[in-house]
Amino acid sequence: MVAHGERLRVYKIYPLRNVLVYNGTTILHYALGAFGLNLGYDRWPVLGWVLALGYLVFALAQMYVLMPLSVCPSCVYRRLEGARCVSGLNLLSAKFARQADAKDFPNRGKGFLCHNHLYMASLAAPLILMLPALILAFSAPLLFVFLAVVGLFVFRVLVVFPRVACGRCAAKGDCPNAKAMGLS
Ligand code: SF4
Repeated sequence: MVAHGERLRVYKIYPLRNVLVYNGTTILHYALGAFGLNLGYDRWPVLGWVLALGYLVFALAQMYVLMPLSVCPSCVYRRLEGARCVSGLNLLSAKFARQADAKDFPNRGKGFLCHNHLYMASLAAPLILMLPALILAFSAPLLFVFLAVVGLFVFRVLVVFPRVACGRCAAKGDCPNAKAMGLS
């Protein structure tokens, strides 16, 4: 957690270790979530595969396709010369999407199907979907995977968001997500 009153350095170019921690924990969360869904519903293999693959495609697409196409174009990291944000997606976005107006950036947190809700759903969905499997078809390996995803979620909220990513972000003043976490 960020100690009260502590000011973290804002990065124009995030160090590579922050980029690796952010993307590494994100991909691990999605991969373990999909694995847990497949494992939890292995008594019903078709359901298990549909949930696991459906979840994985949704999670990766909202993060690595939808974000650079719809959120990043209006982000300050798209306008800062030579910048690299914590995910590195400003660089990917610059290759595929035209820069948008900065005043559109807060839209990432507006509306039921806004990107922020999809992003949070990608983190919470495997935990919610694994719960029925834990009740109906409990196994120690499934419990282990469930607790690992819980651990990644808690680590993201307590360490990655405040110290590795959002707490050091040049966009936090305009970002509804950072505001919601009290980081702006
Ligand atoms: S900080 Fe977020 S919104 Fe801005 S370019 Fe990076 S991933 Fe996109």
